[in-house]
Amino acid sequence: MAASTRDLNLTGAALTPGAQRSWWLRDALAHDPGASCPPLAGDASADVVIVGGGFTGLWTAYFLTQRNPNLGVVILEQDICGGGPSGRNGGFASAWWDELDGLITLYGQDAAVRACRAISASITGIGEFCLQHGIDAWYRTGGYMYAITAAAHQRLCDQMVEIARDAGAGEELVRLTAPEVTSRCESPAFRGGAFMREGASVHPGRLVRGLRRVVLERGVKIHEGTPVTRLDGTTAVTPNGAVRAKHAVLAVNAWGVGWPQLNRRLVAWSSYIVLTAPAPDRLREIGWTGGELISDFRTSLRYFRTTPDGRVAFGGGGGRARRSVDDMFTHDARAVRETAEGFRLMFPSFAGVPIEDAWGGPIDVSPTHLPTFGRAGAANVYYAAGYTGNGVAPTRLAGEVLADLITGADTDTVRLPMVDARPRAFPPEPFRSWGAMVVRRAMIAKETAEEQGRAPGFFASQLARTPRRMGYLLGPD
Ligand SMILES: Cc1cc2nc3c(=O)[nH]c(=O)nc-3n(C[C@H](O)[C@H](O)[C@H](O)COP(=O)(O)OP(=O)(O)OC[C@H]3O[C@@H](n4cnc5c(N)ncnc54)[C@H](O)[C@@H]3O)c2cc1C
Repeated sequence: MAASTRDLNLTGAALTPGAQRSWWLRDALAHDPGASCPPLAGDASADVVIVGGGFTGLWTAYFLTQRNPNLGVVILEQDICGGGPSGRNGGFASAWWDELDGLITLYGQDAAVRACRAISASITGIGEFCLQHGIDAWYRTGGYMYAITAAAHQRLCDQMVEIARDAGAGEELVRLTAPEVTSRCESPAFRGGAFMREGASVHPGRLVRGLRRVVLERGVKIHEGTPVTRLDGTTAVTPNGAVRAKHAVLAVNAWGVGWPQLNRRLVAWSSYIVLTAPAPDRLREIGWTGGELISDFRTSLRYFRTTPDGRVAFGGGGGRARRSVDDMFTHDARAVRETAEGFRLMFPSFAGVPIEDAWGGPIDVSPTHLPTFGRAGAANVYYAAGYTGNGVAPTRLAGEVLADLITGADTDTVRLPMVDARPRAFPPEPFRSWGAMVVRRAMIAKETAEEQGRAPGFFASQLARTPRRMGYLLGPD
């Protein structure tokens, strides 16, 4: 039975998700509100126009101006930079060694390993960027621990570790016994797991706003409060003017479901995070002081990390699918309650520590669970999308790739396998979001039963496997 709000000890902003910006972004804006970037008023021209001022758009602008400081770059953002998932995520900048299975299936082993190394370089690059530009984004390299929470996940854990070992990356991902997991973080739910050494936590709000400051200093023009209604070739059309450019970049994440160039590549799915009050003493009691990023093995992933002042940010990907990005992605009190329930179950020793904040956002689920970057059909229109809730490190690489494609640089990044890859498309609407909803519900039912030591129902198990049977790299096999 679902716990009541009172049992969950939700307070303040946690009770009214969406009533204000994420805790990260509020903190970042209080720390540094940044220069004003008024909406576009009238027509303008540029070398490159970027739609979307999240990590993808800002990193693209950063690398473009690195490659050629004379380029005229304009970013058009409907909200404020970082108002979307880039300022709302869990702050996991994690490696791809756990993604090798899918990467090898798609691209072969050598290319898969190259892709992993490029993501690892992105993690390091984020740390270097923060250092170089004086951005206090709480960058901390504590690694990433996977925790097994159901007997059925042991096989997934073993496979993941073996695939990394067979690909020559055995040192990147190692198995952990139950006591080894407990020594990093104690929870009655954990039964063993694995450790991936490359993983850093960041304060996503300060990182995205720091990026905004740096690209502004480099002369990039940003117009916030400026929705782009369509691309006319490479001209971005907005209600109060257009930006005519030689190149256009779609950096719109899950909003891509509304763009003809991207909509068959994505399903928009929600994820929510709850944030506790500071409780550093409780963290010490459970031994979670190493700054590890942690997640379980569920498809409807639970992911959690700490903050320097001793909070836990706990996320749950068991949200809902929609045909367009609406209020459900930010205002879903039920999703907050479910996420809080997950936290309370996993960390009973935090009983009494209030959950002070909660927020949600959309995730752009791709058919392969992995992003692709490149040309979006029409000449000189580029995109990066499909991060599937794992974009903090990959968006930096995406920015580099798009900048190299646009400037014609002949680099290793443009030869990465996910550049101009064309994964199998999702079915058209209404089947796509309806199917996603049904399958997701079945996955959650299956995974909940497995965690509770029950045999999952036959229909739920079969439905949960549908995406794999249809050739998508999503969900259980
Ligand atoms: C709750 C949650 C937790 C997550 N946790 C993690 C995590 O821990 N680690 C991780 O790696 N990833 C995580 N992610 C995913 C990660 O946040 C994203 O993959 C990443 O931020 C994508 O960056 P982006 O710039 O492509 O997208 P966004 O940050 O969404 O930026 C896209 C921008 O485009 C703007 N836009 C859209 N349409 C238009 C338009 N028509 N005109 C103008 N502007 C437009 C939007 O307002 C938005 O600001 C999480 C996501 C969510 C929602």
